[in-house]
Amino acid sequence: MEKSAKAVTPAPPPVPLNVPVADSHTHIDMQDAGVEETLAAAAEVGVTTLIQVGCDLERSRWSARAAAEHDAVWAAVALHPNEAPRLALGEGGWKALDAALEGIAELAARPEVLGVGETGLDHYRTGPEGREAQQYSFRRHIELAKRLDKALVIHDREAHEDVLRILEEEGAPERTVFHCFSGDAAMAEVCAAKGWFMSFAGNVTFKNARPLRDALAAAPPELLLVETDAPFLTPAPYRGRPNAPYLIPYTLRVMAEVKGMTEDALAEHIAANTARAFGYPR
Ligand SMILES: [Zn+2]
Ligand SMILES: [Zn+2]
Repeated sequence: MEKSAKAVTPAPPPVPLNVPVADSHTHIDMQDAGVEETLAAAAEVGVTTLIQVGCDLERSRWSARAAAEHDAVWAAVALHPNEAPRLALGEGGWKALDAALEGIAELAARPEVLGVGETGLDHYRTGPEGREAQQYSFRRHIELAKRLDKALVIHDREAHEDVLRILEEEGAPERTVFHCFSGDAAMAEVCAAKGWFMSFAGNVTFKNARPLRDALAAAPPELLLVETDAPFLTPAPYRGRPNAPYLIPYTLRVMAEVKGMTEDALAEHIAANTARAFGYPR
């Protein structure tokens, strides 16, 4: 593989956390480092568990395999909300979408796969022509999570109302996680009332993210998770550098400040919450 000419210096490792936590949502398959290197760098700073998320059938297979091979890794599998319409509107049509959903269902039954996701709705990248396939796929994933008693991992981009409506119509699974939470304080209160987990990513550290910090302030500590969504959303002050699970402490420390909690107290909550959300032993 060729190295990118524009390769940038990686962000320096943060001071390690005292209380180990999980990165509740990462895409190691999209990062430059290999699995071992990623896990070692993360463990060094107290990020000892990773939920590896697959976004299409192939990457979901990869995710399940990584989880089977590494104690520190658990998997979530799904067709991403932008993948579902890509399949349905492509050459294979709806048949291809259904076949891929079958493949996801098989993977989701494996014991090292603890989550069904990321699924949900993305009105930012998918236009009106893809909405039907996206909603159909979301409903199928909800049904699958409930049938197998796995955590549902939701991707909600500029689609809050429809996501909440469909969850209501289908009935949410026992354990539901909003990954890269992007709602406001009012939506955080809706999620809190339902007992849904809210996972905050590096964008909560951004200067212009005041509404997101208000949402975090409104969310109860018992429902908070932290994630990188790496390689995306590198926390401040390292925006523009590649993101990876070892950068979790930067985000967690900003979250603790917003919550008015000590870093250790918040980390304790997050460690317990992530284990409870995905159903793995701590
Ligand atoms: Zn997402
Ligand atoms: Zn993601």
